[in-house]
Amino acid sequence: MEKERKRSLRVVLVPFPFQGHITPMLQLGSILHSNGFSITVVHAQYNSPNPSSHPDFSFIPLPDTSSGPPVPGDIIASLVQLNTNYKARFQECLAEVMRQQGPDDGIACIIHDELMYFSQAEAKDLKLPSIVLTISSAANFLARAALIQLRAEGHIPFPESMSQNLVPELYPLRFKDLPIFEKLDDYLPIVSKAFNNKTFSPIIYNTIECLENSSLAKIQQQYQVPIFPIGPMHRIVSTASSSSLLEEDISCLTWLDKQSCKSVIYVSLGSVAFMDIKELVEMALGLANSMQPFLWVVRPGSVRCAEWIEVLPEGFKENIGERGYIVKWAPQKEVLAHGAVGGFLSHCGWNSTIESICEGIPMICRPCFGDQTVNARYVSHVWRLGLELEGDLERGEIERAIRKVMAEEEGEAMRERAKNLKENIELCTKEGGSSYNSLKRLVEMIMSF
Ligand code: UDP
Repeated sequence: MEKERKRSLRVVLVPFPFQGHITPMLQLGSILHSNGFSITVVHAQYNSPNPSSHPDFSFIPLPDTSSGPPVPGDIIASLVQLNTNYKARFQECLAEVMRQQGPDDGIACIIHDELMYFSQAEAKDLKLPSIVLTISSAANFLARAALIQLRAEGHIPFPESMSQNLVPELYPLRFKDLPIFEKLDDYLPIVSKAFNNKTFSPIIYNTIECLENSSLAKIQQQYQVPIFPIGPMHRIVSTASSSSLLEEDISCLTWLDKQSCKSVIYVSLGSVAFMDIKELVEMALGLANSMQPFLWVVRPGSVRCAEWIEVLPEGFKENIGERGYIVKWAPQKEVLAHGAVGGFLSHCGWNSTIESICEGIPMICRPCFGDQTVNARYVSHVWRLGLELEGDLERGEIERAIRKVMAEEEGEAMRERAKNLKENIELCTKEGGSSYNSLKRLVEMIMSF
């Protein structure tokens, strides 16, 4: 009976159209669906999710407006464009969904990515409750909120000489770890518009209390709204449906099967970060010189001025032979769960960070922008599960970092801490655990709307 009532309650999800945002939003949809809710995903046509991977959901594309799709590779420009262009059409979509519902059904609430902040005002107009999904860490949430104040006090932008200094009130973040985008003048107005704590809705985090207890407590103090740390969501979803926008090359799993236990360093910089050709070459030689087996994801188009890996030094692939495997896109969660993988050289996107932590894999952090710098600092200095590669990418540094994490005592200690954390996180998702309880509260709140 209870389940039937929920089934007639529809939750409308509004993801931001980038891989690292779509994945957790669809995971949340699957979690809510298995708790009895019907799910509608209202999405941009750009980077559209694949409806056949989620046959139980309804999908409504927001038509691209005259100014076209978001600007590829420019998150800030895409953000502004999406929030401006989709407003009116979104309201029509919601009205349409409401018309299609029977007299006993209804939209229980809108859950929107924090970057799709236009949805909140539109939901309000239609008298629908809204909830925010934050796909980055709680620590990043606090650091980002602090940017406005730091700007007002003249601390940002900061000179190079300040970059290693600790930011007041944000220990252990240094100025260089702040989640700042290059276009600060475009970004800060968005921060104040999207993350204004006076108008905030309840917030869902893909994080875990045992990982971010103090940041979550601070958020609870600063924002007088319910917060729901229900992560790691990829561990809570019962279905294994993929939300990958690129085709996963599963042949790397067969290659991994041939490698010995914990010997492989997995390398991926996620779905948005870019490298120069010089950095690609340094990475290649660092990996080669480490003599450690490696699985390396090089996303097509992710190397500036190159198609893919045709710019690698001549003979590189032949010299590496069977010791290295390069793919365009990997089934990352399976890769990290594979017994042969012993380390992850990562850009530290929040999904990758959580996926690595959940498998007890130590990390070499190579953050590029946005929240990645915050995550890398927490991985290396708070949870102490990895080390950070700073400055210019250089083959010798890469080789030394790989040795340290994969073969030396320091890496062994990281692995031990990662194993303990993994076990604690598993407890959080079990009955009575913190994430389990948060999810229960979330379901109850949606039903009470
Ligand atoms: N991912 C993947 N295959 C790859 C590289 C990445 O499936 O070869 C997935 C990864 O598991 C994660 C997401 O893409 O869920 C990347 O999100 P993240 O937040 O780590 O970084 P972003 O891509 O947003 O920078």
